[in-house]
Amino acid sequence: MKLTRSLTDAEFLRLYEATRATLTRWIDRLRAETGSGFPEKVTAFHDEMAVHGRFRKPCPVCGSPVQRIVYAENECNYCATCQTRGRLLADRSLSRLLKDDWPRSIDDL
Ligand SMILES: [Zn+2]
Repeated sequence: MKLTRSLTDAEFLRLYEATRATLTRWIDRLRAETGSGFPEKVTAFHDEMAVHGRFRKPCPVCGSPVQRIVYAENECNYCATCQTRGRLLADRSLSRLLKDDWPRSIDDL
């Protein structure tokens, strides 16, 4: 997790390539599931997604509970163990409420 303004050119390229590869993989997967028919029940969530929409459910890679950051009307899900080296990212609403009781890592949680 990093602010876009602090990404290096190499990180931008890596993010672009990873995003493109992920989207291409999901397009292929969803086309294979749909077959020749018109897609039904279109949603932003899918059971096979690693963390998206899986708050508190186990990460498919390491089993740690999926975390979330709520901002405005959006929510971002992530695995603290796999993606932030165990660090819990501050959630504006909960970390303000809990202040010093806010756990700093997945182990503290
Ligand atoms: Zn994980």
